[in-house]
Amino acid sequence: MSLRVRLALLYTILMGGILLIFGTAVYIAVSLTLTNQLDKILEIEARDIVQNTKASTPGPIQIDFSAINLSPDVLVQVWGPNGELLAYSYNLPDYLRNSLDPEGLQSGKPVFRNTIAGEEELRVLSVPLVISGSNRIISTLQVAVLSEVVGSTQQVLLFVLIIGTLIAMVVAGIAGWYSTNQVLEPLEVVTETATQITRADDLSRRIIYQGSPDDEVGQLIRAFNHSLERLENLFNAQRRFLADVGHELRTPLTVIKGNIDLMRRMNCTDEESMDSINNEVDRLTRLVGDLLLLAQAESGKMPLVWNTVELDTVLLDVLQQMRVLAKDKLQLKIGEIDQVQVCGDQDRLKQVLVNLIGNAIKYTPAGGEVILGLAKVEKRARLTVSDNGPGIPPDDLPHIFERFYRGEKSRTRSKDGKGFGLGLSIAYWIIRNHGGQIEAFNREPTGTTFCVWLPLMETNCKEEKAIQAV
Ligand code: ADP
Repeated sequence: MSLRVRLALLYTILMGGILLIFGTAVYIAVSLTLTNQLDKILEIEARDIVQNTKASTPGPIQIDFSAINLSPDVLVQVWGPNGELLAYSYNLPDYLRNSLDPEGLQSGKPVFRNTIAGEEELRVLSVPLVISGSNRIISTLQVAVLSEVVGSTQQVLLFVLIIGTLIAMVVAGIAGWYSTNQVLEPLEVVTETATQITRADDLSRRIIYQGSPDDEVGQLIRAFNHSLERLENLFNAQRRFLADVGHELRTPLTVIKGNIDLMRRMNCTDEESMDSINNEVDRLTRLVGDLLLLAQAESGKMPLVWNTVELDTVLLDVLQQMRVLAKDKLQLKIGEIDQVQVCGDQDRLKQVLVNLIGNAIKYTPAGGEVILGLAKVEKRARLTVSDNGPGIPPDDLPHIFERFYRGEKSRTRSKDGKGFGLGLSIAYWIIRNHGGQIEAFNREPTGTTFCVWLPLMETNCKEEKAIQAV
């Protein structure tokens, strides 16, 4: 059953239910009010009759009907204790000479009852009459009035209520159908566009909504468009990634194949070709290792050995190591250095430093300088690697932490066979897995600073990690 039909049915049933309860209440209230009115008339008449009744024991009962202003609709009977009709009003028809309410005669107390006599519906009040001063019932007065007015009013009311309820249910159903249509129309557009997107495999399409962007449908469409955008980005990233990996694999494989072909043609093992093959295999191994590490880091499954890390000692270690690489090309200096302890995986943090300092050495022209710094800033450690190289073009800056991203210059220069554009990506994820941040900005007048923020160790690394794991 469609949502439209379900909502229209729901409206109809709701409206029917409400009107049924309301109608029943009205029906009962009107019936009670009319019956009460009849009862009041009967009470007044009965009081009037009792006041004009004379009785003595022994002796006949005497009612002065002429003194009573008896309504023509009111019938009166007075029954003796032995079931004999002692008196009756003049308007009592012949066919009503039996008791108006035989049961009321037996009750021994005033009682209102509905009876049917002949074809007539009657409301009867039976009142036992006693001589004042004694409790002996000498006769029973029965006063009756035709109650068909109540019945006919009830019938009309029932008819009006049933017809009214049916009409209201039909109107509610139509209104429900119409309003649901109005609401669902934009959703149909969403469904149609989503189907077209799936059919055409075109994630660049977006749904356009004419209504207010802040209403519920507007919000749904915005969320849907947002998901489409994310999906598009993910697919593009995946496509790019495959292309990049393919590209990175092709170069070393071509070199290896070329060298093997050469050796085969020469029919001997050439030392130079063997070296080249070895280098390319090393490069491929590095690439596969980096990709594996990235995959683990991005899924949050990077195996980390948590320990207390003396970041200043690590920095000095890496500095020594990297000085060999910098050789005479540029100066590698230490600026400010605080004693800082963090909780982390020492080898991975070293890897971040090697990547950052390695890049600084790689991209800074000969004669430049690279300055390292380590400071405590509030509850965090700030590690900086600054160089006075060419800086990073503003267009590249937002992308440098993406996988395989390389600046234009680095791409053309990557013939050195080293960079895959994965170093910063790996650094980014290692720092993220340590609960820190990494950022890069250009320096004035020239150069780049990479800044790594890590949370300081508070008490004990093992305990902290154990608490986090719980
Ligand atoms: P790559 O293997 O190309 O060095 P990275 O991920 O380490 O890959 O760096 C991504 C890009 O960021 C580089 O290609 C380069 O354009 C830019 N970059 C990184 N560090 C520096 C730096 N110190 N100075 C200038 N550009 C840099």
